[in-house]
Amino acid sequence: MMEEQDFGSLPLSQDTFQDLWDSVMPPPLTVTPIGVNDIFMTDPALNEFDPQIFDMAPEMSTKESVTPPASTVPVTTDYPGEYGFQLRFQKSGTAKSVTSTYSEQLNKLYCQLAKTSPVEVLVSKDPPAGAIFRATAVYKKTEHVAEVVRRCPHHQNEDSDVEHRSHLIRVEGSQKAQYYEDLHTKRQSVTVPYEPPQLGSEMTTILLSFMCNSSCMGGMNRRPILTILTLETPDGLVLGRRCFEVRVCACPGRDRKTEEENSTKAQSGTKQTKKRKSAPTSDTTAVSVKKSKPASSAEEEDKEKEIFVLHIRGRKRFEMLKEINDALESKEEKAKAKMSVKQEFAVPSSGKRLLHRGEKSDSD
Ligand SMILES: [Zn+2]
Repeated sequence: MMEEQDFGSLPLSQDTFQDLWDSVMPPPLTVTPIGVNDIFMTDPALNEFDPQIFDMAPEMSTKESVTPPASTVPVTTDYPGEYGFQLRFQKSGTAKSVTSTYSEQLNKLYCQLAKTSPVEVLVSKDPPAGAIFRATAVYKKTEHVAEVVRRCPHHQNEDSDVEHRSHLIRVEGSQKAQYYEDLHTKRQSVTVPYEPPQLGSEMTTILLSFMCNSSCMGGMNRRPILTILTLETPDGLVLGRRCFEVRVCACPGRDRKTEEENSTKAQSGTKQTKKRKSAPTSDTTAVSVKKSKPASSAEEEDKEKEIFVLHIRGRKRFEMLKEINDALESKEEKAKAKMSVKQEFAVPSSGKRLLHRGEKSDSD
């Protein structure tokens, strides 16, 4: 699967680390998340080409030719369609007690496990007779999108008498809710018949509940998800589609507030750098490249901790890349050490005594 990369044509003896870096970086390195390679290495059957392999791991290679067929990955773009399909969420605010709250800023619903989240559905004209709403959950990130979203084993076991116990999304308050699992993709969804708004109302309300926490081990496992709501004909023809992110957590109000604040900060470009007047080397902390799209701080942190495995052909090349990695690691270590020294100790200019944090300094 590794794409042949012609490092051979590059000069291997460089004068400076920067030259080396520049010469190595331009070709796209095939970096694959841990685990994906394991599938390849441990299962001999997979040495033969099997198109289904891409259902499991579409990110295996950056080559375009291996993108999975469209049908295996649900579409997550909004599409109001000719019926003007729209969603609206109640304004629940960010109070500590709130069990479900929606952030317009982030297009993200925050809710507690198994608590009802009302979703208001609006259409501009009556859909065809027999139309249904369908709710499907899908992982937000490309590296997870091929995996089906299911409840974690622990929560499934708690509901052992419920037939749809493995479904993350439930529709409450309707006897007509039906639970589906696609034969081929194994993706799960729940449907309810479209009902026109009651007299004097302009919208229909669907009650969704999410039956695992986003953090559930063996389930979502901290991976963000999107919920796709579609308006469909009885034959499954999509008439309209709306998507929003969902985080199932203990404190929806608090988390919404935090993530909205983080997003605002990131967008306004406010620098969160510590008050350091003149650092001798200006960019010691610029180890990670900031993405333009703001992620939640937890996500960002996770991303920086993620481990990747890179398979490299030839010892010479390996040594070269290892050297780069080692250099980056030690750079980061030094930066960290520097930060912690500055934060935790006040170093007296005489150098005689270190003041530990919490201890009163004379200048205080
Ligand atoms: Zn769970």
